[in-house]
Amino acid sequence: MTAVVTTDPTEVARCLSGGGIAAIPTETVYGLAACAQDRVAVARVYAVKNRPTDHPLIVHLSPSADPTVWGVLDDNALILAATHWPGPLTLLVPRTAHTPDWVTGGRDTVALRVPDHPLAIALLEQLDDALAAPSANTFGHVSPTTARHVLDDLGSSIDMVLDGGPCAVGLESTIVECAPSGLQILRPGSVDATQIEQTTGTSPGRLTGGSRAPGMLAAHYAPRARVILAGDSGEARRVAEQNGPAETVAVIDHEDTNEYARCLYAELRQADARGATVIVAVVPRHGSLAPAIADRLSKAAAGR
Ligand code: AMP
Ligand code: MG
Repeated sequence: MTAVVTTDPTEVARCLSGGGIAAIPTETVYGLAACAQDRVAVARVYAVKNRPTDHPLIVHLSPSADPTVWGVLDDNALILAATHWPGPLTLLVPRTAHTPDWVTGGRDTVALRVPDHPLAIALLEQLDDALAAPSANTFGHVSPTTARHVLDDLGSSIDMVLDGGPCAVGLESTIVECAPSGLQILRPGSVDATQIEQTTGTSPGRLTGGSRAPGMLAAHYAPRARVILAGDSGEARRVAEQNGPAETVAVIDHEDTNEYARCLYAELRQADARGATVIVAVVPRHGSLAPAIADRLSKAAAGR
């Protein structure tokens, strides 16, 4: 069976309320959603992605939902939510008893976010529950930024796809841990450290060393082709020439980092689709999205 593709959030709300699983558009990437309180549907999300069950899911809320039902938001979390939701910022906070084990991987924290996409919001507003959703790709693969990408990975194993067009941001949300000891960016995204500091008056730490948030493994977001990183366009050209005929090498290089973020995953997938064996990607150094793009590129380069 192939997933039903629709642009009607009401149809998808019916599917999810009935225990189905559906891919939904957000401004970051497409998510694979189940009603958060539905243990069986959430288990199916893990199964179809082939995702280890200790990798928790982000709980997606509608703008009118009360996040304190799910998590304990301190002053930093409250002002971040008030300033950046709906938007590409996920807050990692202590969970409440309302939040079930099956979305947190048994942890005592929950990841919360209000996505900024009209169809996702229209859908969430029609549900009595929140939506637990990881990215709608097979585990370890590149996140999907179009409905077509979702169908290519999971088309035969999920019920529906809500097609909201290409994602406006193109990279997964920033994840900020809000702890009594302070703020820490666990995953860089389009809401950057400067914005977080401006909002809270506190400068966030950047996670160094091991992976505290599961799902942020060194190798992630990986295409089939080998990814080689370059410092600038000239280096990328030289490396591309050294790595064989043009048909087998793809180069990813955008001056504008907004465009880079929006196109990156589609271009990684395109390179695989046309049989490239090597992808040379220029690591951007300037612009607020540069750390997030560099993070995903280094993970793609770490292989599968
Ligand atoms: P994905 O949407 O596929 O990028 O997956 C969501 C990511 O959010 C996971 O891989 C985790 O890294 C992170 N996450 C969600 N919930 C938690 C949690 N309770 N504790 C730590 N990390 C979390
Ligand atoms: Mg993912």
